[in-house]
Amino acid sequence: MGGWGSLVPEFDVVAIELTGKHNGDKAWLDKALAGMISLGLVLLGDEKAPAYWNERARRTLESALTLAPVTRRAKNMILFLGDGMGISTISAARIYKGQLEGEPGEDSRLAMETFPYVALAKTYNVDRQVPDSAGTGTAYLCGVKANAKTLGVSAAAVYGKCNTTWGNEVHSVLHQAKQSGKSVGIVTTTRVQHASPGASYAHVVNREWYSDADLPKEAIRQGCKDIAYQLVHNTDINVILGGGRMYMTPRKTPDPEYPTDPKQSGTRKDGLDLVERWLSAKEVPGARYVWNKEGLDAVDENSTDYLLGLFEPKDMKYELNRDTSTDPSIVEMMEKAIRILRRNPRGFFLFVEDKLIDHGHHSSRAKQALSEAVMLDRAVARAAELTDASETLTVVTADHSHVFSFGGSTPRGNSIFGLAPKKAEDKRPYTSILYGNGPGYAIANGSRPDVSKDKDYRQQAAVPLDTETHAGEDVAIMAKGPMAHLFHGVQEQNYVAHVLAYAGCLEPYHAGCDSRTLISARPGGPPHALC
Ligand SMILES: [Zn+2]
Repeated sequence: MGGWGSLVPEFDVVAIELTGKHNGDKAWLDKALAGMISLGLVLLGDEKAPAYWNERARRTLESALTLAPVTRRAKNMILFLGDGMGISTISAARIYKGQLEGEPGEDSRLAMETFPYVALAKTYNVDRQVPDSAGTGTAYLCGVKANAKTLGVSAAAVYGKCNTTWGNEVHSVLHQAKQSGKSVGIVTTTRVQHASPGASYAHVVNREWYSDADLPKEAIRQGCKDIAYQLVHNTDINVILGGGRMYMTPRKTPDPEYPTDPKQSGTRKDGLDLVERWLSAKEVPGARYVWNKEGLDAVDENSTDYLLGLFEPKDMKYELNRDTSTDPSIVEMMEKAIRILRRNPRGFFLFVEDKLIDHGHHSSRAKQALSEAVMLDRAVARAAELTDASETLTVVTADHSHVFSFGGSTPRGNSIFGLAPKKAEDKRPYTSILYGNGPGYAIANGSRPDVSKDKDYRQQAAVPLDTETHAGEDVAIMAKGPMAHLFHGVQEQNYVAHVLAYAGCLEPYHAGCDSRTLISARPGGPPHALC
């Protein structure tokens, strides 16, 4: 790809005319271009002209100078979690988004990138340098760093040891929001019992205890409960949307969508129908259960106070593989959730997760991962249309990164899934996107295979692993709305939950602030911990 004149031919014509008239007087030309850009006559200028960059930066500076923190408390809070959405993923998703719109991509902007406040989060678990989604979920949702593979318990609890659960439970922002009278919800592209959403309601020493069939006998004897059971019996959650049907019904209960496939049937050994139990526990008439898009679309948000939607037996499908007539997208699920939750005059807390970014990376299918990141961003953009920015704190972050990179001296506008311009030492091409490890490692007959653009193509990895791993560098926290300015600098990941709690007048930061009238309170909270 060459210069950008071809994208704005009118601009080239004007620039050539100006150059001709003023005999290449650069200073004059710069001034004229700046004027044209500021008048909106030129939307995308010639990047070779300093005026283009100067004018763009001047505008950014002007808006930075008017940036003022919103020091009111937040009525609503939305936490978007890109599972595995490290900073390299955000950069690549930005380029991909631009390229999907027919642009070169590098200077396109994700909705999340328009947020005024950005911080970095250190993601390590108490027992791991490179974390997992359970320990990190406990950190950003419950405000306490924890051990890997454990949910909603402090690091005093030991992985897999049921009897270390008791006394070590920590409670999430979602739980505290419900306690304070807000409506609460979770939306995820994975099973609703998975690690990230699980940290908002469960207390469990093994993130894989999805149903009672997954618990060892000793844990059952000691009284530990599986995550699906806790979903229905712990915090009273208004809206639950995602996958995970098979953990909710008795063993061998045929799945409504795949009735002839026994692998998709219910798994519970205790004979409980947790969907039934969830519905019957709600004392209001407006409680609904749906299991496909048609059902979701038919839900009247004005007469529904509780909604449980489980759209797959396990995780939902990648956006690129989704059947749009039977399964809702993350944007559609989130929209329904917000429309229900926002009816509460006291406000709401909503957790929205795209876990399939993480799954795409684990299988080294970069196109799947980046498509999910773009979808999460569409949800971020849609949420802004559905809520009032002056009373809603919106935060976008990740739990951890992946060993995902893109490089190779590629030219501007190169397809994000494309090749580096030069061949490697083995005389074969290589993709810009590479993984440090994972299933993309492939040597056939002593040499690397050819690359392809298939959506399921696995980008190459340096080290063979059946599943690619998380990475240990910091992740971004992007925020806008009331108290968003408290996200600044380089922070421990558990700080996220504390800002959310403070912004929302939740325990332990509720003293001196009235969440109903949203009257601003004195800064600082009581000394005790969040959870
Ligand atoms: Zn993962």
